[in-house]
Amino acid sequence: MSDLRVRFAPSPTGYLHIGGARTALFNYLLAQKEKGTFILRIEDTDVARSTQESVDAILQAMDWLGLSYDEGPFYQSERFDLYKQKVDELLEKGLAYRCYCTSEELEAKREAAMKSGGKPKYDGTCRNRSDQPDLPFVVRFKAPQEGETSFVDRIKGAITFENDELDDLIIQRTDGTPTYNFVVVIDDAEMGLTLVVRGDDHINNTPRQILMYKALGYDVPEFAHVPMILGADKTRLSKRHGATSVMVYREMGYLPEAMVNYLVRLGWSHGDEEIFSMDDLIEKFSLSSVGKAAGVFNPEKLLWLNAHYIKTGDPERLGELLKEYLQMIEVSTENGPPLPAVVKTLQERARTMVEMAEGAAFYYRPEVEFDPAAVQKCLTKDKEPILTRLTELLDAATGWDHEAIAAAFSTLMGETGLKLGKIGPAVRVALVGGTNSPSIYEVIEVLGKEESLKRLRGSFSKFV
Ligand code: GLU
Repeated sequence: MSDLRVRFAPSPTGYLHIGGARTALFNYLLAQKEKGTFILRIEDTDVARSTQESVDAILQAMDWLGLSYDEGPFYQSERFDLYKQKVDELLEKGLAYRCYCTSEELEAKREAAMKSGGKPKYDGTCRNRSDQPDLPFVVRFKAPQEGETSFVDRIKGAITFENDELDDLIIQRTDGTPTYNFVVVIDDAEMGLTLVVRGDDHINNTPRQILMYKALGYDVPEFAHVPMILGADKTRLSKRHGATSVMVYREMGYLPEAMVNYLVRLGWSHGDEEIFSMDDLIEKFSLSSVGKAAGVFNPEKLLWLNAHYIKTGDPERLGELLKEYLQMIEVSTENGPPLPAVVKTLQERARTMVEMAEGAAFYYRPEVEFDPAAVQKCLTKDKEPILTRLTELLDAATGWDHEAIAAAFSTLMGETGLKLGKIGPAVRVALVGGTNSPSIYEVIEVLGKEESLKRLRGSFSKFV
């Protein structure tokens, strides 16, 4: 075990987004590589927007990607006593104060400040107030107004903010609930985080948080802010650019290893290598090779990686997955050829598991679903004697492998003087129903003798 402690801290207000998944992955990889600790913390202080459904969706997506954590999940909603205690501590020390300004007053102040060219930050009306009227209040952090706050970001380098730019942040709302910037500091400190890796949309929060670490007497961890992910048009990745939910990619037939491989390359590189297993990544990943520029989401590359992992995947495992994808299109695999054998016939062609399921369905459907156009084109009367003869030859075959099937076809071609290109399409439509399938010998072999003969015979009534 090393001292490294990192975390992923999603807010459960929706599904796990591509960007969040990448942050989780980077943290996971760092912890794995350095034998540190990876903590999962659910940031559900915004009770109105947080749902159990989102928590479940996030946990499920992490599980799918193989991102296991060592500690947690911790829920901020279960830690309100601690936060309350810290608010009181800051109030007592004079490092926070009650602010009674109403939202109308704040809005008026903001407008006035903007008009006079000033910064729209809180003007400090209640900073030095000593009375405690019986009115609703928020608690604000008393941020230092002079000096500067600096930190060295592990990705972006040295960053400095002038303290007079930073607002007196609200740390407790009128309803008594604490706010993000405050609780994140308490939790990161209390959970002993040594490094905070998160999206750079939080970079403006970091100096504010550093001031609170100091006020609360905590050690400040290191920070690494990962650049955003953009769509092809260089605007922030959103639904306009395609699915942004990790689990939607699963539904679309993506493999988790393709997703992991894709996510890591959105911002990190290792020479010009493209293919990385999780084990490779654990060995090779480092923050020093995370780029400063935003990554651009490229669905074609993700598809290319997925096709690669399907092509090279273990047929047994892909067979198990195929079963689930077939179930989604209501095709039962109870009867029919063994799944791994079916996978082998489709691995080269299917780019997603959905495509594989669509391509595999004909093996399992109890009746061939004929495409009328294919029947019209290929099952013409002149082919009937040819398919009849093929049926006899296959029926007489001893053994049922590629060679035996090829031998039957070769006899047929010899007898009729026709090339495979003339015979194949009719056979394919008879067996599959359409004109698109794996190689015809493979289909016959995998369907098996009984089923192949049954389908060939069944097609005789279809000739036009
Ligand atoms: N809960 C925050 C979010 O989902 C992350 C906070 C952090 O990483 O500091 O954006």
